[in-house]
Amino acid sequence: MDTRIGSRKGQHQGELVRFQADLIMSSHTSTLLFNGFITLSTAGITVINHGASLGVTVWAAIVLLTLAFRYVAAAGCVRSGMIAHRPGDALTLLSFGALVSGLAWSALPFSVDGFEGSGRDAALFLIMVGTASGAIVKGIGYSQLAMAFATPLMLSILISLMLVGDSASLLLAVNAAALTTVLYRHSLSAEQVFASNELAKLQAADLALSLSDAHDDILRKNGRLEVLANCDPVTGLANRTHFNSRLGGDVARAVAVDEPVALLLLDLDRFKSINDSFGHSAGDAVLMEVGRRLRRVVGEDGLVARLGGDEFGIILTGSDARPRALAYATDLQNASQEPVPVGGTTAVICISVGLACFPAQASSAEELMAFADMALYEAKDHGRRRIREFDPALKARIERQHAVEQDLAEAIRDGSVEAWFQPQVRLDTSAVTGFEALLRWTHPRLGPISPPEVVQAAHSQHLAEALTEHVATAACDLLTRLPALGLPEATVALNISPREFSLYCVADMLGRVAGPRGINPALLEIEITEEATLDTDGAGEQLKRLENAGYKLAVDDFGMGHSSLAYLIDLKVDRLKIDRSFVKGVAGSRTNQSLIAALVGLGHALALDIVVEGVETAEDAEVLALLGCRVAQGYHFARPMPLAALFGWLGADRPATSEEGRAVA
Ligand code: C2E
Ligand code: CA
Ligand code: CA
Repeated sequence: MDTRIGSRKGQHQGELVRFQADLIMSSHTSTLLFNGFITLSTAGITVINHGASLGVTVWAAIVLLTLAFRYVAAAGCVRSGMIAHRPGDALTLLSFGALVSGLAWSALPFSVDGFEGSGRDAALFLIMVGTASGAIVKGIGYSQLAMAFATPLMLSILISLMLVGDSASLLLAVNAAALTTVLYRHSLSAEQVFASNELAKLQAADLALSLSDAHDDILRKNGRLEVLANCDPVTGLANRTHFNSRLGGDVARAVAVDEPVALLLLDLDRFKSINDSFGHSAGDAVLMEVGRRLRRVVGEDGLVARLGGDEFGIILTGSDARPRALAYATDLQNASQEPVPVGGTTAVICISVGLACFPAQASSAEELMAFADMALYEAKDHGRRRIREFDPALKARIERQHAVEQDLAEAIRDGSVEAWFQPQVRLDTSAVTGFEALLRWTHPRLGPISPPEVVQAAHSQHLAEALTEHVATAACDLLTRLPALGLPEATVALNISPREFSLYCVADMLGRVAGPRGINPALLEIEITEEATLDTDGAGEQLKRLENAGYKLAVDDFGMGHSSLAYLIDLKVDRLKIDRSFVKGVAGSRTNQSLIAALVGLGHALALDIVVEGVETAEDAEVLALLGCRVAQGYHFARPMPLAALFGWLGADRPATSEEGRAVA
């Protein structure tokens, strides 16, 4: 940096010298001509005063010769390029010429015969002083040359006056000396001002140049930043910012030219598990590969972007944007079947796709994005590798789902989500043997929300544990009150969805709820579906813990899934709840009768209790009793009801009682 500044200063000095040479040259010829004119005038004056003399003629000839020499020298300087390339040398040469002229001029008083400095030749002094002063005033850009010319003249005047010797001449000599000093000082300071002005101009020009360099540099860097700001660093595709602004632009243009825009949103299925199992760099490699495939399929036909995480987006425009989008979605799913290398092995990366179109479905870029997102949400909700296109019914469904999800936490907290209870009774005596807790929520705006919908929302909002804990608390509260109602051995069943086992420790949660209430775990029954018995995500471990803690286990909706008998035995399941679909209308279905008879036999053989649910009529109840079923649940006996209604129902007058509990009508 310092050396750059140093070399700049050196450059500026060089340029300054050139300016000085140019300045001198710009008036050099006219100066010489003027000088020649004064020389001749001076010679004329001496002729008038003294008559013609050889001395003055020689003097004038010499002065004119020096002027001619200076003219030739200056012309030579220009021709040889010395002014442009060696201005310092040119100035020295020109100053030398000025000195020679000055010396010639200084001989004037001595070349006039009978020179009378204080008398009739005083005018010659005036001319000499004027010429010297004029030279200095003209030579402000470069004082050296002016002084080279003026010094011999002023010295000559001084010497001449001193030689005259009278007091007036001596006084004049002092004045001449003072004038010379003033002139020289003026010349030096004028040169300094000139130099500093010129240097300031050069520096200003430099500054302007470097500012323009800096500006260019900033523009270049801005350009690079813009590329980075629009680009996803992992895949090299466009990023969300670029994607959003492009979508806004394309939709605005589509309005003007009346052409559709199709938006595809893509999400990799189970990408999180790749990241979790193989690490982030393996995850990044998968994203890169997916990005490459998207680009391969779509090419230059549309904008492909990574929107963040494992989400990608594609924008297509043109009259056939929608069919092209659907074709690309299918091609992408086919391309995704090629295995991708992941952490030393390979994996098949499935893609879910949501599609929405402008203006057919959405009326703005924001709506287009929201609707494509809804379609993607729906696609993911229905399993892997799905393509879903937005439709208005989907919007209503998803808005409802979002409202349910948003309001659920508060509803659990404020008790709007309740547990209702449906009694289970003995078929032979109608005695109440237990209850199943079923959740109920009436949304203030949407009305009753079905339990599976609530369970799904709880899952996506990470509220599964809070929801089940809420129901379990109600179940335990009922259990603490049953002895007082004459049902000390009645059980209360809770539903636990299979996915919950991978989220938290169910046994610990139940311990927290049941422990402080002094609940006998044998009276709390956990209903799981057959899916959970398949030991998905460590459910087996959890079921063992529940069993060890003494809770009862029931397999719900039995017959709908795929239970391994060996596993049921191993788990020490207590009950099988035969699915409603086999129970409903059993009185009129031979097939279902045979099936239930077989299941009852199986239950006996494995020492499992069989419960039938969905018993809606007296005939079905009768047939089920004849088939050997012991315990039943269904609308025929009682619908699920809130706690207060349950107490009323239990307290109602009933025709029969048994040792196992109160009887029902
Ligand atoms: P599920 O466990 O099979 O519950 C029995 C369902 O059958 C209940 O539906 C009940 O109201 C209904 N039901 C009972 N008797 C009859 C009958 O005679 N006829 C007919 N047609 N239906 C009858 P609900 O309450 O709508 O619950 C539906 C499902 O939601 C439940 O099926 C269960 O899988 C789930 N669920 C309910 N509460 C919870 C809960 O607290 N946690 C979890 N994880 N799931 C729950
Ligand atoms: Ca159940
Ligand atoms: Ca069931």
